[in-house]
Amino acid sequence: MTSKHIETKLVNAGRKPRFLQGSVNPVIQRASSLVFESVQQKQHATENRAKGELFYGRRGTLTHFALQDAMCELEGGAGCYLYPCGAAAISNAILAFVESGDHIIMTGAAYEPTQDFCNVVLKGIGVETTYYSPTISAEIAELIQPNTKVVFLESPSSVTMEVQDIPSIVNAVRTVSEDIIIIMDNTWAAGILFPALEYDIDISIQAGTKYIVGHSDAMLGTAVSNERCWDRLRERSYLMGQMVDADTAYVAMRGLRTMGIRLAQHEKSSIEVAKWLEQRPEVAVVNHPALPSCKGHEFYIRDFKGCNGLFSFVLNKKLSQKELELYLDNFEHFSMAYSWGGYESLILANQPESLNYIRPANPVDFEGTLIRVHIGLENVNDLIDDLEKGFDRIYK
Ligand SMILES: *Cc1c(COP(=O)(O)O)cnc(C)c1O
Repeated sequence: MTSKHIETKLVNAGRKPRFLQGSVNPVIQRASSLVFESVQQKQHATENRAKGELFYGRRGTLTHFALQDAMCELEGGAGCYLYPCGAAAISNAILAFVESGDHIIMTGAAYEPTQDFCNVVLKGIGVETTYYSPTISAEIAELIQPNTKVVFLESPSSVTMEVQDIPSIVNAVRTVSEDIIIIMDNTWAAGILFPALEYDIDISIQAGTKYIVGHSDAMLGTAVSNERCWDRLRERSYLMGQMVDADTAYVAMRGLRTMGIRLAQHEKSSIEVAKWLEQRPEVAVVNHPALPSCKGHEFYIRDFKGCNGLFSFVLNKKLSQKELELYLDNFEHFSMAYSWGGYESLILANQPESLNYIRPANPVDFEGTLIRVHIGLENVNDLIDDLEKGFDRIYK
């Protein structure tokens, strides 16, 4: 009698009696040392340390096991590794599958620190990166070399929001080689709006910092892996000393319980704001995956189960420094901050030349200032009022 609907799964995932010990939520088990009662028990724990037996704090406690169990259920994986933040999940997942002399293929519209990791750390250990445009499809096959070990996807792209043609990309890669590991930064979909493993992606990564935690008060990275990659991902990440504290794992579990309704509200409000922006004369283009003006909208419609509160739009002019300050410094409901996925609304601006700098594989095709917003859980009319006043400040 397993329930199929995602909202129900979010409420119940990971709530096994062993983790709950009689309460509704899992216990917070803070531990470095975990005590064995006998030599036999120690031997058993050591043999099964990667299979959910309590062994040593760095391998996790009941709190971690509950979250890992929940993530595997939600994303359909064989295992889930937990990291102190999303960036650690990305770098360690890639590092688990490359060695000096190898090559990886990376989206040129990836989250900026992901690109920096490739350009600095991977380059430094002799791993070469080829970037591709996020609008690529089967032509990705032409970028594959005999030493290609990893193909990395992120969809929609950070900041410019292009939605990738994932089935074509995955199919093209698999046709050339079954051995290449396909990893996706699946943060935007919160792991559930796009079921990456069902699309034959090997590892689905999330910055749990965003919608899983959902309240802008903790950092977490998750990597849900299929069977074939799990042992290697787990053991390499363990050797890199990756782990997260029990309190953060608990907070993430709590975030999961309301993630379904939060995402539904973020989706509803963000579409409303995006449609309002689309009508505005100040706006050149709205990059919201659920709107036809977004690159790859057809793939969003085909592959995604829904959207969230994060999108961007381009103004019909490039703001001067003075206009930028006038615009961004005076919002009532939109705070200026990196990150997103919490309950609150956020805003950031990017000038086209700063985006070109990080995007050699796909130079921007617009001239105005790009504004990225995260639509939070405030009343949507208050947010629209606030945005309208923002336009008044720079177009009067
Ligand atoms: C925020 C973010 C990350 C990094 O997550 P942290 O927890 O901040 O390290 C990675 N990928 C994407 C798409 C993000 O938005």
